[in-house]
Amino acid sequence: MDQKPTNTFNPSQHGIKESFRLTDYSDLRGWGCKVPQAVLTRLLEETNLDLSPNNTDNVKIGIGLDACLMPTRFENVSIIQTVDFFYPLIDDPYTMGQIACANVVSDLYAFGIYEIDKIQMILSICDQFSEHEVDVITPLIIKGFQDTGKAAGAFVVMQSATINPWCIIGGIATSVCSQKDYINPMNAQIGDVLVLTKPLGVQIACNVNRWRDNPAKWESVLNAISDEEANTLFDTAVQNMCRLNKNAAFLMHKYEAHAATDVTGFGILGHAENLVKFQEQNVKFVIHSLPFIKNVLSVAEAVNGKKKLLDGRAPETSGGLLICIPKDNADSFCKEIEEMDKSKAWVIGTVETGTKTVEIVNNVNIIES
Ligand code: MG
Repeated sequence: MDQKPTNTFNPSQHGIKESFRLTDYSDLRGWGCKVPQAVLTRLLEETNLDLSPNNTDNVKIGIGLDACLMPTRFENVSIIQTVDFFYPLIDDPYTMGQIACANVVSDLYAFGIYEIDKIQMILSICDQFSEHEVDVITPLIIKGFQDTGKAAGAFVVMQSATINPWCIIGGIATSVCSQKDYINPMNAQIGDVLVLTKPLGVQIACNVNRWRDNPAKWESVLNAISDEEANTLFDTAVQNMCRLNKNAAFLMHKYEAHAATDVTGFGILGHAENLVKFQEQNVKFVIHSLPFIKNVLSVAEAVNGKKKLLDGRAPETSGGLLICIPKDNADSFCKEIEEMDKSKAWVIGTVETGTKTVEIVNNVNIIES
């Protein structure tokens, strides 16, 4: 996959006044912002779909999990599907397309699915764009999305393109699979460990880059790290967001993972809490280590965001997989994924007897990567 530098898109070179990311999203406060996790769960529960982790046919038409697993009329053939969409969080439309696609397919990877059949792209163009801006920005977003979809091995089509007050990039990812192709995310065993495959802090890293346009905030950033460190922080975040969780999904089978989820908008704690809730055994997750992108914590401290990061509540985009895996297999998993992805994974916790809660220990071990 193309891992080009990320701070290079210059709107003025394209005859555009501003980045598409700078569109006024203030109206989103009412409608477009993420629904709080508790509210979302309540809304979904009211749909009365089967949430029981004990349904005997081993097939979930589920909600609250990363993707929907649907039986078909063919024996041992299921369809697993997810839909997700995003608002731009960086300036470069091509890279934003890559990130959006990686984030869409990540929910399938969390099920251990590593062969994706089809991705249908959904795009809404901002009605504040001029015709020229539409002509420049749209093909770049689509190309970035397509390139990442191809890297995932999927057939990518444009499903829907509309005009809206906001630029929205997303899609539907589908895999046709048999039972051996997926790992139901509900079999965590006492004695397992928790592995995380990407470092935390990408949204703060994106904010740091955005604050270059905000003199007061930028001054706070420069009190904590240098301009060059801020660039490296942002580039590292973008590379992590662009990277598919495909190899992690593949290795989940090889190393007999018992359950996984991907870490996105609700932060590592929110997604860990969601995963533990669906476990068949009475377990709890104990998180003893939190890996962050280098310098994220220093910046977060300078802008009063450190507590949210250490509490595990800072939102991520296109984050890594959080995987419950047998303790004896974890080191080999981490070693092999580092060889494949050229990026580290970490053992960050343990699965213990408990009441389906998640605990981040006091004095959690901070890892900077
Ligand atoms: Mg997910």
